[in-house]
Amino acid sequence: MARNTIFAPGDSLTTVVTPPRVLADAHGRVARDLRMSLTDRCNLRCSYCMPADGLAWLPTPEVLTDAEIVRLLGVAVGLLGVRKIRFTGGEPLLRRGLAGIIAGARALRTDEGLPPELSLTTNGIGLDRRISELAAAGLGRVNISLDSLDPARYAALARRDRLDEVLAGLAAADAAGLHPVKVNTVVMRGVNESDVVPLAEFSLQHGYRLRFIEQMPLGPRHGWDRASMVPAAEILAQLRTHFELTPAPGRGSAPAEEWLVAAGDCHPAGTVGVIASVTGPFCAACDRTRVTADGQLRTCLFSHTETDLRTPLRAGADDDELAELWVGAHQQKAAGHGIGRAGFRPPERTMSAIGG
Ligand code: SAM
Ligand code: SF4
Repeated sequence: MARNTIFAPGDSLTTVVTPPRVLADAHGRVARDLRMSLTDRCNLRCSYCMPADGLAWLPTPEVLTDAEIVRLLGVAVGLLGVRKIRFTGGEPLLRRGLAGIIAGARALRTDEGLPPELSLTTNGIGLDRRISELAAAGLGRVNISLDSLDPARYAALARRDRLDEVLAGLAAADAAGLHPVKVNTVVMRGVNESDVVPLAEFSLQHGYRLRFIEQMPLGPRHGWDRASMVPAAEILAQLRTHFELTPAPGRGSAPAEEWLVAAGDCHPAGTVGVIASVTGPFCAACDRTRVTADGQLRTCLFSHTETDLRTPLRAGADDDELAELWVGAHQQKAAGHGIGRAGFRPPERTMSAIGG
């Protein structure tokens, strides 16, 4: 909490305690979890996320430099009450300066006097070669995306034949002690529904925390429709045919609805999560704020407006000015994403360009 010493009438010294700034919105939520996108580029082309030919990548001068990213992280953590940072993209492992950015973030202190919690959402390719460096820099955890254990299906879905590298990345994160290792799976009808049970079994066997994610309208244009999306209820029904599930206590703002899985013949007890972003939105408990790789602040994945932090940053704005912009944007944060409501329009940027 900031303390300003001023002279009050009568010249006695008085300490005025300035309330800390937080990213509060008009719906009673406070954002403490920052998704920082490090690049819009990727070495995969997952069909629910990107067109086969990729996208028109951001020109390099528009992408924040490592120093600019660390500066914005400092504003978020030092002035705005952010306590967790998740690096994402595009594929964040493509960012050469990743370890330096992590080290810069690790040196920050939250309003509780602690380093922020640092995690990475990644497709896992090349993680095995970089994990020691990233862990030493202060990375705490990873979420690795894995949509199939079948090499042909993985290659068809990601449009690249790289399953072995992803599995090597998972094993390396586990060996480096970045626990809990989380796995993200997007389920697509007619594509990888038959992977639900094998992926859950594999994750339980390895002690990974798997979370199935409902496909959201954030991929290539016309690539999503509600009727063909696999809803959380269907994923759970499939899991129940093989596993004994009981609800895990305490959901908080975490998007995954967690289930405890009883030990079975070929797996120990563990947990599995289902993120019902579409059929059971958790917007009312959302504590996220997002910055794209080109320095645009978004208060929601589905926002149609962005607040430009890069231009003032490069024009010499001080930390307080950047913090005020950030606070002002959150005051306007929408109550929910509105998927399914009449007139819903997906955002102009797709998932990889926003930062998932
Ligand atoms: N490249 C990294 C990865 O794949 O983990 C980080 C970026 S990716 C955009 C972040 C997460 O968003 C991944 O778990 C991915 O599966 C998920 N994702 C991408 N498009 C999605 C969509 N249309 N609906 C739901 N999740 C999606
Ligand atoms: Fe790349 Fe991640 Fe999108 Fe797949 S989901 S195309 S790995 S950004």
